[in-house]
Amino acid sequence: MVIGANKSTVKICGREHMAVIPRICIGDVLEMKKPHPCGEKHYTVLRVGSDVRIVCRGCGRDITMPREKLEKCIKKIKHPPSDGTDA
Ligand SMILES: [Zn+2]
Repeated sequence: MVIGANKSTVKICGREHMAVIPRICIGDVLEMKKPHPCGEKHYTVLRVGSDVRIVCRGCGRDITMPREKLEKCIKKIKHPPSDGTDA
């Protein structure tokens, strides 16, 4: 799969697996590389499409950004616990 090949050349550094695209689902909690101005790094996914809408868990502000851009900012995706407890 080639994404954005018409826009920029893909550099393969050999240390990262760029082919692995995180699968974002509604209700997932995203831990971002950069915290929101309010200090919170966790966001809840509200809507997924070509654009992804997320809401800050700290201040409740919602943000819409292109999925491609968002994926570069994600540090970790946490799926909501369906059963059991998850602290
Ligand atoms: Zn915030």
